[in-house]
Amino acid sequence: MVAGALDASLVIGVDVGGTKILAGVVDREGVVHASHELETPTSSEEAVVSALDTAVEELLEERIAAIGYGVPSNLDRRTRVALHATNLPIAELDLVAHARERFGFPVGIENDANAAALAEWKLGAGRGASNLVMLTLGTGVGGGLVLDGRLYRGWAELGHVVVQADGPPCQGNCHGRGHLEVMASGSAADRAARDLYGPDADGQLLIERARAGDQHARAKLEEIGELLGAAIGSFVNEFDPELIVVGGGFGRAAGELVLEPALRAARRQAIAPADETLRIVPAALGSRAGLIGAALVAFDALDAG
Ligand SMILES: [Zn+2]
Repeated sequence: MVAGALDASLVIGVDVGGTKILAGVVDREGVVHASHELETPTSSEEAVVSALDTAVEELLEERIAAIGYGVPSNLDRRTRVALHATNLPIAELDLVAHARERFGFPVGIENDANAAALAEWKLGAGRGASNLVMLTLGTGVGGGLVLDGRLYRGWAELGHVVVQADGPPCQGNCHGRGHLEVMASGSAADRAARDLYGPDADGQLLIERARAGDQHARAKLEEIGELLGAAIGSFVNEFDPELIVVGGGFGRAAGELVLEPALRAARRQAIAPADETLRIVPAALGSRAGLIGAALVAFDALDAG
């Protein structure tokens, strides 16, 4: 436990997405006191770093004690350098050193999906669990793991598990094929929508049509859910989680249209008794999971001194 004086501190969490940056002033209970959103530049690393600095500067005030970032990149486990992002023009970026020098606070960093998993575990749908798997279904698919009561700080790139050997090429800078990220993300739903309804259609329309009873749309989402479930069944067999939390923009929007077929498919793959007991639950923190997770990472940095 920390001293009472520290409990009053606020931190700035920065959730760095492929399309937008969401920064917020957050307290230890995960309450967001102020937030600022801007578009993620895609032109260069310098432009991304400059946008991140702007996001922080907009929110600086005297009670701020630390900064935390959730970035869509894998991190060097020892140095915490952001090595390689699939959907963002950054590579070998030491954001911690940069922000520490610029702002003078303790700075923490975590993969964005790991940060979301941390938030759902501490303050959301995964409270009280010792082992959980979190999947964030957005443009891509992020993964996070809590194992034996601790956030796993390694790559946990669960979106890049193979669900179809030699399947379609993966997205962004990933050179793999048939990965979950390309088969069961918002982009997969966008593709399915274009196949059905033409070049202007997207996943949102696919979901709307499915809810209105369109059998073709339902079948496409069911297909996506089946592939998601195949991956979830595998994760259950590897990590023995008490529950699987599914969030992200696409995950939230599609809800049971994808989660019900996913549960059926996962049960077919999971080893007993998990084939009966496995649970897939929607994330509880909504679009703020990444932001709150980044803030929790900032508090970790603050408490570590
Ligand atoms: Zn991939």
